Amino acid sequence: MKVNKLEVLSNVQVSERYWHMKLEASSILEPVKPGQFFNIKCAEADSPFLRRPFSIYRMNKAEKTIEFLYLMKGQGTFKLTDVVAGEKVDMLGPLGEGFTLGKTWDTVLLLARGVGIATLAALAQEAVEKHVKCIAILSARTNNDLLAAEMLQGLGVQVIKVTEEDGTSDVSNVHRLIEQLLIENDIKATFTCGSKRLSKLLQKISKNHGLPGQIALEEHMGCAMGVCYACVCDIKEENGINSVRVCKEGPVFNLEKVVLG
Ligand SMILES: Cc1cc2nc3c(=O)[nH]c(=O)nc-3n(C[C@H](O)[C@H](O)[C@H](O)COP(=O)(O)OP(=O)(O)OC[C@H]3O[C@@H](n4cnc5c(N)ncnc54)[C@H](O)[C@@H]3O)c2cc1C
Repeated sequence: MKVNKLEVLSNVQVSERYWHMKLEASSILEPVKPGQFFNIKCAEADSPFLRRPFSIYRMNKAEKTIEFLYLMKGQGTFKLTDVVAGEKVDMLGPLGEGFTLGKTWDTVLLLARGVGIATLAALAQEAVEKHVKCIAILSARTNNDLLAAEMLQGLGVQVIKVTEEDGTSDVSNVHRLIEQLLIENDIKATFTCGSKRLSKLLQKISKNHGLPGQIALEEHMGCAMGVCYACVCDIKEENGINSVRVCKEGPVFNLEKVVLG
């Protein structure tokens, strides 16, 4: 783990609620895996005191850049929108355990909701680079919030959009869609991020179909270095239920083992 001061190449509003930030990343020498995150100092001043965690949205190894897609939510992300090109941002990372693509998985299903789309986009990018067929169900409040859809389609990902606006994002419809996709495709693994309700659904479906699954959790974090235990979640192990730190043992976990409450 390393503190990086990265130069911002752009930081622009891409929809009513979302911003996109691109940074020069040649100083990051260790590989960054999809699902890993950076803990970002959102403002030079001491407020907000705590850094905020953001998963990697896109990586461009040739350009040596990294990108984040973030929702303007509260104090930290609001301050982050003030950062302009040319400024440097203090980032701790890459942190945590990322996603793993099994060697024999030639078709995978991604199910993302809201900002979870940002987290799974990096995985989709890696899957496509490894010639893995990638199907993504993207769920959001409005079509305007489905920001990564075009980018993913451009990569060759089969994208299915569901929104509250269109009345298509309810759990029963997503359930129906997934069962249909499982009939039409030889899906080998599932991945999810962004919604407890959809994650519970995917957990159940994956178990019924005997599919391995992975989930990226977005818990509130304090230190993000495994010290403060602010971000613990429960995992079912052979010896019972254990509490683990999302920042250290996660944020990506075996979907079957996570206790989703
Ligand atoms: C591993 C990880 C990866 C993430 N990746 C992304 C990403 O790629 N893009 C993105 O937009 N967001 C991502 N998030 C969520 C992001 O960290 C929070 O939205 C951000 O910390 C909010 O900060 P804020 O100061 O703007 O809002 P705050 O003022 O801190 O909070 C605003 C509201 O959000 C709630 N909140 C604060 N932190 C979290 C959290 N970690 N999870 C859920 N709710 C929270 C607060 O309770 C409050 O209601 C990620 C979170 C984690 C843990």
